Order: sequence, then structure tokens, then C-alpha cells
Amino acid sequence: MNEVHRPVLAANWKMHKGPREAASFMEGFLNLHPPARGAIVVIFPPSISLVAARHAALARTDIEFGVQNVHTRESGAHTGAVSAPMAADAGATWGLAGHSERRHEFGDTDEMIGRRLAMLADSGLRPVLCVGETLEERENGQLESTIRRQVEAALGQVPQSRQESVLYAYEPVWAIGTGLAASETDASEAHGIVRDAVRGTLRSGGAPSGSAGSATGDEHITVLYGGSAVPSNASDLLAAPGIDGLLVGGASLEPESWAAICAARG
Ligand code: PEP
Repeated sequence: MNEVHRPVLAANWKMHKGPREAASFMEGFLNLHPPARGAIVVIFPPSISLVAARHAALARTDIEFGVQNVHTRESGAHTGAVSAPMAADAGATWGLAGHSERRHEFGDTDEMIGRRLAMLADSGLRPVLCVGETLEERENGQLESTIRRQVEAALGQVPQSRQESVLYAYEPVWAIGTGLAASETDASEAHGIVRDAVRGTLRSGGAPSGSAGSATGDEHITVLYGGSAVPSNASDLLAAPGIDGLLVGGASLEPESWAAICAARG
């Protein structure tokens, strides 16, 4: 993990916890997690539970909230959808785009993911672009080409002035929810590929305005790791080169295990 930057520890609750359960989780978690522990803690509840979770943590400015998905448009006749400006209005300051469950279960294409990412960035949310290969792609030697395609297609759609606000999560599909986390070596290698793909995209479209680092390649590109991160492997993952934080699904659902991950140090 980069010494200068605080790790980002992000909880993706997926389709778990309605408003009451979300509020009671927050109560339990906040008792276990004292303020100012150094990490940036972000929770991504289902959007229907965002306000309740946030309300339960109003006294704690060290905890931030995000949405798991947004529509590609600001408003309109899109039954069942939530837009990025609405999420911001509800108190979200972060948003995910491109989670593999969105790609595989809901058919999100690289093009749609890019538009969601742009919408998050335009609405002032911190976008997190999730990328990662399937087991088949890894076994076919397509790790690098898959990550490059996903990064280039999505980041290329974000206006240059906003590209530097994007964070990345490397989430190998074979590691999500399987109990088989990537090794630190494999994760570090993939994070290097993500960074390289980001730099390449920034350069090909020109450096984002105001980002002096982009031209020289010394900008900080934040890349989180996701895929079966649990309390017992969190410290090792956070200590691995190039891993700036964790995006956690299953182990973020209980206050105890989530607090243990938030207490992990790289
Ligand atoms: C995720 O869905 O983003 C994830 C990383 O899940 P899990 O931690 O359960 O593997």
C-alpha cells in the first residue's frame, strides 16, 4: 500500500439489509470501530437502505456511503432505476460501476459501464470502476487484455476533467464469493496492469486538466482489491505492493468481521 495515502476499505452489501437491518448493523459496527482509525471506510448499502444507514451514522463523519449502481441518465421514465444525482441527494459520496454481478447478471456492457461511470463523476460522486477477469479468461492468457479492454472502454467515456476522480477495484470474478482470494502476488500483478491501462487511457485521450502527474506518469491511481477478502487475509493483502484498499462483499455483512477488516493494517 502506498505510504502516503490512506487505505480505502469498502463494504459492498449487494442485495442484503433493508433499512432496519442496515441501521442496526451500523449501530453494532460503530461500537466496534472507533473514529479516526486511519482508513477511509465506505459502505455501499442497497440504495433503499442508504438513508437509514447514513442516518444511523450521522455523528460519524469518518464513515462514508455509496451506491452500488446508477442509471446512465439523470432522470426520466426508467422504472425501478436510481440516478447518480438522486444518490448524491440521499447522501452518497461514492458509487460503484462495473461490478461483475452487474456485468454477468444484468448484462451491463463496457459501454453502459462507461456511461454509468461518467454519470457518477459528473454528479460529484467518487466513482469506483470494478474490473476483473473470469477464470476462463485467466486460463486463456487474457488477464491483461480483459483488464485493458474494461478500463479503456469505461474510462474513455469519462470527461477528461473528471478522469482523475476515478478509483479502481480489481475483482477477479473467480475470487468473488468463492473463498478463493487471489494471492498477493497475483493481485499485485493485476493491479500493475490496471494502473498501466489507466495511464495509457489518460495519455491517449490527453492528460486530464489539472492533473500534472498524468503527463509524467507519477499520478496516484488508487486500486482496491476485491474477492474473498476476510479478516484473516486483509492485512497481508493490504501490505502487498500496489494494493490501496479492499472492496469486501460477504465479510462486510457482520459488524464483527467488518470491524476486524477495518482494523487491519498493511
Ligand atoms: C464483491 O462482491 O465485491 C466481493 C468482493 O465479494 P466477496 O468479498 O464476497 O468475495
